[in-house]
Amino acid sequence: MRPIKIVHLYPERMSIYGDYGNIIALSKRMEWRGIKNIVENIEAGVSIPKDADLLFIGGGQDKGQVIVAEDLASKAKQIKDFVEAGGPLLAVCGGYQLLGEYFISSEYGQLQGTGLFNVVSKGTSTRMIGNIVVHSEKFGELIGFENHSGSTEYIGKAQPLGVVKRGYGNNPDDKLEGIIYRNAIGTYMHGSFLPKNPRVCDWLIAKAIAKSSQSIQLKTLSNTLENRARASALKRP
Ligand code: GLN
Repeated sequence: MRPIKIVHLYPERMSIYGDYGNIIALSKRMEWRGIKNIVENIEAGVSIPKDADLLFIGGGQDKGQVIVAEDLASKAKQIKDFVEAGGPLLAVCGGYQLLGEYFISSEYGQLQGTGLFNVVSKGTSTRMIGNIVVHSEKFGELIGFENHSGSTEYIGKAQPLGVVKRGYGNNPDDKLEGIIYRNAIGTYMHGSFLPKNPRVCDWLIAKAIAKSSQSIQLKTLSNTLENRARASALKRP
């Protein structure tokens, strides 16, 4: 059994509001099941390894997104091919924006996206910040924390991650949040997102195992602590 390879894109610039916690959750929930895994950090100028089993990109300030957007252009085809082949990917906030068609930063102008997700984003004067609860048909109640001025809209065919029950989500108006495209998820939910939503974490792990073409059983974990934390978070105003 070869270790499952988690690739963390731009951890230095795109891992704000605790997004590294998503890497910890993915790695620990595999380790707790005896599934060997490794994390490879990829910064600008470094290619994505061909044996990646899962891609993660977190959120970042507009300034960091400028540099990342330039580098992502050289990775766009590889990311698209990876997802089209069924590879799992999680993109949070700024990463979600940059995997869309474009992000127009109030401060730095238009940043070209990779075009993986059918979304466009535009910086606004509204900072959308606070705890968020989203109802997802696929994953049930999702909880997180959002902090973005970027407002995102779908263009063409898109499957939202869910409907906003509390908070903003993609924008202040349509009460929709995130996107699912094949086995790729884009979301505004920091928090970290995966520790608070173990169902999504395990779904991504299962897809990564499938991508590795290995037959590894995903044993059920108790999730006692996670469920207690979720119950507490769902009660927050
Ligand atoms: N800079 C982007 C915005 O403000 C993304 C922020 C983030 O990743 N938290 O919308």
